[in-house]
Amino acid sequence: MKKILILPGDRIGQEVTNECLKVIDYFRKSCEIELSEDLFGGASIDVHGEPLTKNVLDKALDADAVLLGAVGGPKWEKLEHNLKPEKGLLTLRKELEAFANLRPGKVFPALINSSTLKKSVLQGTDIFVVRELTGGIYFGEPRYMKEVGGKRVAANNLIYNEDEIARVARVAFEIARKRKNKVTSLDKANVLEVMQLWRDVVTEVHENEFKDVELEHLYIDNAAMQVIKRPSTFDVILAGNLFGDIISDEIAELTGSLGMLPSASIGNKNGIYEPVHGSAPDIAGQNIANPIAAILSLGMLFKYSLNLGNISDLIENGVSETLNLGFRTKDIGNENTLTCTEMGDEILKNIDKLSS
Ligand code: NAD
Repeated sequence: MKKILILPGDRIGQEVTNECLKVIDYFRKSCEIELSEDLFGGASIDVHGEPLTKNVLDKALDADAVLLGAVGGPKWEKLEHNLKPEKGLLTLRKELEAFANLRPGKVFPALINSSTLKKSVLQGTDIFVVRELTGGIYFGEPRYMKEVGGKRVAANNLIYNEDEIARVARVAFEIARKRKNKVTSLDKANVLEVMQLWRDVVTEVHENEFKDVELEHLYIDNAAMQVIKRPSTFDVILAGNLFGDIISDEIAELTGSLGMLPSASIGNKNGIYEPVHGSAPDIAGQNIANPIAAILSLGMLFKYSLNLGNISDLIENGVSETLNLGFRTKDIGNENTLTCTEMGDEILKNIDKLSS
C-alpha cells in the first residue's frame, strides 16, 4: 500500500489538486493507494495559526509522497516572515531533506505557437532543470533587517558547503545519463567565492564519477541569454537555489505558460510534487486555472516516488493527446477554452483511451 498525502494549499492550489484527485482515483483500480488530505499554507494559518502544523509534518514524513497545490495570497502577505504560507513550504522541503528540485521544461509540439519565441528556435526544446533546494541564500545565516545608525539595513547569506553541492550535482548527472547525457552548470564564479566552490565541486564530481557525461559551465547572466537564444541545445541544467529559481521561471515562458510546468523535490526522504506556479489569486475561484502542471507533477510522483513509470508515461501521454486534439485552457488558448474541471475530465478520458 502506497501512501500519498495531498496538501491542496490555497486558491487555485485547491482547484488544480481536485483534478489530480480524479486521476489518482482512476489508477486506484490498478494499484493500492492510501490517500489523505490536509490543510497547508494560508488555509492552515486560518484554522491553526501556522502554515504547517506538527501533525501535518508528521503525516508528510510518514507518507511515500506528498502532492502540493500552491500556497499564498494577499490575505497572508502582511504576516511576519515566520508565519507566512511560504514558510510552511520551505520548512516542509527542509524537513523532508528534499535537496534537489526537478523541473522539466518541455515544449509540447501542439503548443509550440503559444510561446513568445519563434517556432524555429523552440523546435525540439526539452530542458530539465535540477535546482538545489535546501541551501544557499534562501536559508543562509545570518539573515536580518535592522536599523543601523538610523538607516535600515538588510542582509542574506549565500553559503554552500561542498557536500551540499556534490549531492545535487550527482542527481543532475544521473538524470542526464537517462536523457541526452549533458549537464550545464550555472554559477557566477567570476565574482563570488561561493560560486567558485560550486564550479570546483561540480567539476570534481564530474571528473571522478561521471566522465561519460558532457559538462558545460555557464555564468548565470550568459545562461539567461543562451536559454532564449538556443533552448534546444540544453539537456540538464544544474543550478543553486537562487539561480535555479529564476532560470526555471524563464524556461517556463518557453513552454507557453506557468500552468504547464510540473516539479518534483527529491532527496533523502520521500518526495514532494507540486506545480511550479503559485496560488494565482488573480484567477482563483473562476474555475479557469490550467490543471496540467499539477497533473504532470502527479505523473512525476508515480515515477520518482512510487516507481510506477508506466503510469507516469500514461499521464504524460494523456496530457499530450488532449493538447493534440486541440483542447486548451484560457492561459494557452484563445477561443472555446475549457474550464479547469473540463480539462481534468478531458485528460482523464484520454488516459483511459490510451490505457485500454
Ligand atoms: P503565480 O504563479 O501564482 O501567478 C503568476 C501568473 O500566472 C498569474 O497571472 C496567474 O494567473 C498565472 N497562472 C499561474 N498558474 C496558473 C495556472 N495553473 N493556470 C493559469 N494561469 C496561471 O505567481 P504570483 O502571482 O507571483 O504569486 C501568487 C501567490 O502565490 C503569492 O502569494 C506567492 O507567494 C505564491 N507562490 C507560491 C508558490 C508555491 O506555492 N510553490 C510559488 C510561487 C508563488
